Amino acid sequence: MSLIVQKFGGSSVANAERVMNVARIVTDTYKEGNDVVVVVSAQGDTTDDLIEKAKEINPKASKREMDMLLTAGEQISISLLAMAIEKLGCPVVSLLGWQAGFHTNRAYGSARIESIKTERLQSELDKKKIVVVAGFQGINKSDDLTTLGRGGSDTSAVAIAAVLHADRCQIFTDVTGVFTADPRKIPNAKKLKDITYDEMLELATLGAQVLNNRSVEMAKKYNVELEVLSSLEREPGTIVKEAAKMEKMLIRGVTKDTDVARISVVGMKDIPGNAFRMFSKLASKGINIDVILQSVGRDGTKDISFTCAKDYADTAVEVLEDIFSPEGAKVSCDTTIAKVSIVGAGMQSHSGTASKMFGALYEAGINISMISTSEITVSVLIDKELADKAVEAVHKAFFG
Ligand code: ADP
Ligand code: ASP
Ligand code: MG
Repeated sequence: MSLIVQKFGGSSVANAERVMNVARIVTDTYKEGNDVVVVVSAQGDTTDDLIEKAKEINPKASKREMDMLLTAGEQISISLLAMAIEKLGCPVVSLLGWQAGFHTNRAYGSARIESIKTERLQSELDKKKIVVVAGFQGINKSDDLTTLGRGGSDTSAVAIAAVLHADRCQIFTDVTGVFTADPRKIPNAKKLKDITYDEMLELATLGAQVLNNRSVEMAKKYNVELEVLSSLEREPGTIVKEAAKMEKMLIRGVTKDTDVARISVVGMKDIPGNAFRMFSKLASKGINIDVILQSVGRDGTKDISFTCAKDYADTAVEVLEDIFSPEGAKVSCDTTIAKVSIVGAGMQSHSGTASKMFGALYEAGINISMISTSEITVSVLIDKELADKAVEAVHKAFFG
């Protein structure tokens, strides 16, 4: 007998028929003699729809009230799924995040899990019940509901698998695994048999939304092997695990991220300390910085540009104008860009990977405005309008 955690995303529970389909997968697993904990997301576009509803009333609603609203989405899907499982004749109980013991910090909208008190989960499993848990949510020290950030149900599932030492953690979604590019955009993208945590973490961070990046970080930390697979087509998915005997590939995938803003400070004094002033202030506001470019100084001035998530752009501009406008520098923000990246541990032992990517972009007539690299990634910033064309060209260069 094994303990299996199964997570189903929004599209997998989008309507009554899909909920019944999920109930069958879960009860089949249970009838094979396993303990099963199921984590579900809100149905279909429910979370987006709730955000829209909030915006109609107050676009500047507090994060606390937003979390109170958004947690409702998952409450609907756990109860519906539990009803479907009841209908199939298996014992089941649905639990909200707090009932399942998810304690988080106070960061509404992007809370971090601090602990999971497993007593309730364990006692329901001991009663031989299938336990259906609301993903994406927890409770903080003030007994207020919190959410873990978009796509956070993946993290809920991995966290449960980690604390309960589950034998398997399956992430069911609407594609059959992790592909070399988004299979909805690149029809000949290839499904990966397996991928390392580090590569998956980069893919997820750089735009492959199939897994939430925090969930991969947590899976690596607690050594939870993940399987990404389809809830609609029963075929083997992709295994995410520690590096060991893997398919040999130069790169694993191509991603795009259009949720990027480039902020530039032009004409700042070319003196020591400006980069420090700039980035320490941004860090104090919790703004994560990505690609950084500093120009060669001229006439005693220099320019620094960097990228961050679009959501942070307004705050970043405000903060930087406060510091640098009085000193005569100009702060600007550009949201017409996208980041296209390649990811793969294979590039560490192969020279020429970056130039192959740049060559593909050149042949497609796409101009690169910034470049950044790490051991296993190369990213370029390009015109957002050309992002899909760029992914296609780069994917073709590496995968034919
Ligand atoms: P869920 O609702 O199940 O959490 P998501 O929409 O968050 O599903 O993630 C699945 C989607 O991720 C797929 O429908 C696919 O379009 C997209 N995706 C982007 N990049 C990739 C990739 N490299 N491999 C697989 N899917 C990808
Ligand atoms: N429902 C949440 C979202 O749409 C959480 C999730 O899907 O994982 O972001
Ligand atoms: Mg998701």
